Order: sequence, then C-alpha cells, then structure tokens
Amino acid sequence: MNHNPEPLIVMQDISKVFKTPAGNFIALERVNATFYRGEFVSVQGRSGSGKSTLVNMVTGIDRPTTGTVCVEGICIQELSESRMSAWRGRNLGIVFQFFQLLPMLTVLENVMLPMDFCNQYSVQERPERALALLKLAGVEQYADMYPAAISGGQQQSVAIARALANDPPIIVADEPTGNLDTRTAEGVFELFRGLVTQGKTILMVTHDEELAGRTDRMLHLEDGRLINDHPGNTGIHTLKQESTG
Ligand code: ADP
Ligand code: MG
Repeated sequence: MNHNPEPLIVMQDISKVFKTPAGNFIALERVNATFYRGEFVSVQGRSGSGKSTLVNMVTGIDRPTTGTVCVEGICIQELSESRMSAWRGRNLGIVFQFFQLLPMLTVLENVMLPMDFCNQYSVQERPERALALLKLAGVEQYADMYPAAISGGQQQSVAIARALANDPPIIVADEPTGNLDTRTAEGVFELFRGLVTQGKTILMVTHDEELAGRTDRMLHLEDGRLINDHPGNTGIHTLKQESTG
C-alpha cells in the first residue's frame, strides 16, 4: 500500500488525566502516534487500558490534558465546541459498539441525519445518497424500517452507512464488532477493509485478536501507555519511523 507521505493524524505526547473523587487518574500517558491515509489500525488492550480515551482524542469527543492531536495540520484540541462539531461532521465517521441509531427515525432517516447537520449534500440528493450507502453496507432493503425491527448486525451496518454520510476521510470505530456474532463481525470487517481500499483511514478498537491481526497496524495499550505499535499480519503495511517520541 502506498501511503501518502503527509501524515493524516499526528498525536504528540498525549496525556489524559481524569479528576476523580479518589484523586487524579492517568488514563493516557505520553502517547505518540502518527497515522497515514489508507491505514487500517487496530487498538487493543485490556478493559480500562485507555482505548476509548485514545480514539476519543481523534474524534474530539474528549480532549487531551497535555499534548496535541493534529489532523491535516488542524490541532483539534484547540477548536471551540462549535468549530469542533463542524470539523467532526466533515472529517469523521464514528461507529460505536451499541450502534446508537435513533429509534424514532427510520433507517434511511438515520443515515440522512448527519447530512442534515453538515449541509455538504443538497436536500434533494440526500435520500439517494443515503440509499446508496445502505446498499454499500448491504442493508438497503431495511431503509423504511425502524432500528428496533432489524438485527444487531443489520443495525451496525446501518451505523456504518451513517458514519459514511458526509464521506469523511477517517472512521473511528470503538469495538464495532463487540456485540456481534463471528459471522456478522466478519461482514463488518470486510466492509471496513473495502473502505480502506478506497483510501479511508480506520481506527478500530477491538478485543478480537483474529480481526486485529488482519489490520495493517496494531496498537497495544497497557495502563494508558502505548506499549506496542507494529504491523498486522497482512504484510501490506510498512511502519513509518517516528521522528518524535
Ligand atoms: P477502555 O476503552 O480501554 O476500556 P477507557 O479509555 O474507557 O478504557 O478508560 C480508561 C480508564 O480511564 C478507565 O480506568 C476508566 O475508568 C477511566 N475513565 C474513562 N473516562 C473517565 C472519566 N470521564 N472520568 C474518570 N475516569 C475515566
Ligand atoms: Mg472502551
């Protein structure tokens, strides 16, 4: 795979400290990582090791206590909340373990919702685009149904279609297959692999060793520290030398 030599995401010396009644808790400690366009990255580690905290530094759902996260040169931790949500809408698709579709909207409406927020596609083209994304995810036949009426795997496929609504360059998925059976998880993985082939960059938190082994690059966290950053078993990834760190 040819990586654009320009880094897409640069995390520099990220620490995250949560203040708790029991005192300060260090969820991330001096993490450095650079991601390139078209990389499929998995993030592994025990429960509580800081995986969600780490990927939420990229989504801007949370901000580092110290350190910087820059995406194409924009240091996102410096953005105001309103600029952050505008930035997120255009640049990120987020997929969660529990799908988080809105129950009172149909499948099609769920996929159109981020387009309504972002205004990148005209009102006229939104339904057609949403349907095309549902088709890509293999669930277009459920377009007019409500999320409760379809299976977990189908809901996750819808959530992935929704994540693609504004054609973001980056997909962040936090245990996207954590609630799916093996066969359905495989479908989600294949969908992600196809998106990476098209040039998307994916950060995927997972507990599934087998799936992680098939990503291009595997990160391991332990107690908030990045203890390992190495290529997956696909053999198509060559690790860049970090100049920082
Ligand atoms: P993982 O996703 O690897 O299971 P998390 O990133 O969710 O772990 O959390 C890492 C650690 O930080 C955990 O011990 C968790 O309890 C703690 N933590 C996460 N969010 C908060 C918060 N908002 N306030 C206090 N502690 C938190
Ligand atoms: Mg988590």
